[in-house]
Amino acid sequence: MLNIVPVRAFTDNYIWIIHNHRHAAVVDPGDAIPVLDFLRHEDLQLVAILNTHHHNDHVGGNAALLKEFSVPVYGPAQESIPTVTHPLSEGDSVHLVELALALKVIDIPGHTAGHIAYYGANLLFCGDTLFACGCGRLFEGTAQQMYSSLQKLAILPDATQVYCGHEYTLANIHFAKAVEPGNPALSKLESEMKSLLAQGIPTLPSTIIRENATNPFLRCNQLEIIQSAGSYVGSSLTDPVSIFAAIRNWKNDFVTPRREQ
Ligand code: ZN
Ligand code: FE
Repeated sequence: MLNIVPVRAFTDNYIWIIHNHRHAAVVDPGDAIPVLDFLRHEDLQLVAILNTHHHNDHVGGNAALLKEFSVPVYGPAQESIPTVTHPLSEGDSVHLVELALALKVIDIPGHTAGHIAYYGANLLFCGDTLFACGCGRLFEGTAQQMYSSLQKLAILPDATQVYCGHEYTLANIHFAKAVEPGNPALSKLESEMKSLLAQGIPTLPSTIIRENATNPFLRCNQLEIIQSAGSYVGSSLTDPVSIFAAIRNWKNDFVTPRREQ
């Protein structure tokens, strides 16, 4: 039985620990200190580091973890992360033998040029590409790339548990409500997520079924979103990538407290 536990870092990062009470793998350790504290406290032996993309808030703890544990570091083949020992691209798999877990690699460029996701056993680790009710900023990729990447994730099974890199959910819901005010699932989600946050509980994982019902970046074929995107740019839009690009630009200008969402 695997446990997936968040370790908080910086302002709003989640470092995900996958463990079986004996061994552990860590996804996107931006900071080593809270990870080492957790591993010691739970008496876990680290067996692998997995990185989704090269940003420092996701890889910054690699080197310090490697001083304590000599483990393989998996990461995107298309990005330069000096500590990565096992560069990965779509079609590759990661076999975490101690955890009896196999994860497949999915290429999801857009936020960064070589961003990857790890998917298996009903779990998706998607870094800064798919957020609950949102998506990552286009730092290195095009709207077409990000749109295609998100579509690859949207077709995963409904029950897939979605583990994102940041706690951005509430701000994302505020934006989603501006884009699609007629979606009743958003108000329901907002009150559920507010309640979790008030109790100090992460809003993650999400699920693919929930994202398809609420995330405007996965809903570019919805009439209300098509119309909202058209109003934002001041002309009627028809193709999904243009609609995606319009709402992604809109989100950049929307009042948001954080950088990467
Ligand atoms: Zn990032
Ligand atoms: Fe990040």
